[in-house]
Amino acid sequence: MMATTHVFVGLLVAAAVAVVEPAFALEAGVAAILGGLFPDLDVAASHRKTLHFPVYYAALVVPAVALALAAPSGVTVAVAVFLLAAAAHSVSDALGGGHELRPWEGESPRAVYSHYHDRWLEPRRWIGYDGSPGDLALASVLALPALFVFDGFVRTVVVGMLVVSIGYALARKAVAANAERLVE
Ligand SMILES: [Zn+2]
Repeated sequence: MMATTHVFVGLLVAAAVAVVEPAFALEAGVAAILGGLFPDLDVAASHRKTLHFPVYYAALVVPAVALALAAPSGVTVAVAVFLLAAAAHSVSDALGGGHELRPWEGESPRAVYSHYHDRWLEPRRWIGYDGSPGDLALASVLALPALFVFDGFVRTVVVGMLVVSIGYALARKAVAANAERLVE
């Protein structure tokens, strides 16, 4: 799935927070954007491994959400939403395509690395690959609640990310071909 799809998943949670407690809307929205993007910063290291923790982020979500409920503040809510978004990102990477240059060929057995299991999880391919038509459709639907709930900065980011997602999906195979040429 695209990094933007992961962000929109996190923003579903943030939108719910914003509806329940509008005072924390901005913190929740920004935390969802950062948490959804964060794992993919490892493209510069070992992608889908260095910053992807499908089990450990999820384990941290439990105390973080408990703390946010017990002592609600901008910081505790932001930490909980950040971890939720990062956990959803890491887990859902296993539902898409494999980690390979042309994931539509479906040859890689590696979706995301689980440090807890000490091995790569296999791609389920429910969503064909990042930037596939299904991924773009999913991203568009997931972005809708955030578009209605947020205004200002968060809404601007959502619109920008939708534009980037459409461009990426349209250019997805050309991007792979160019990357291949670069490697050669
Ligand atoms: Zn990822």
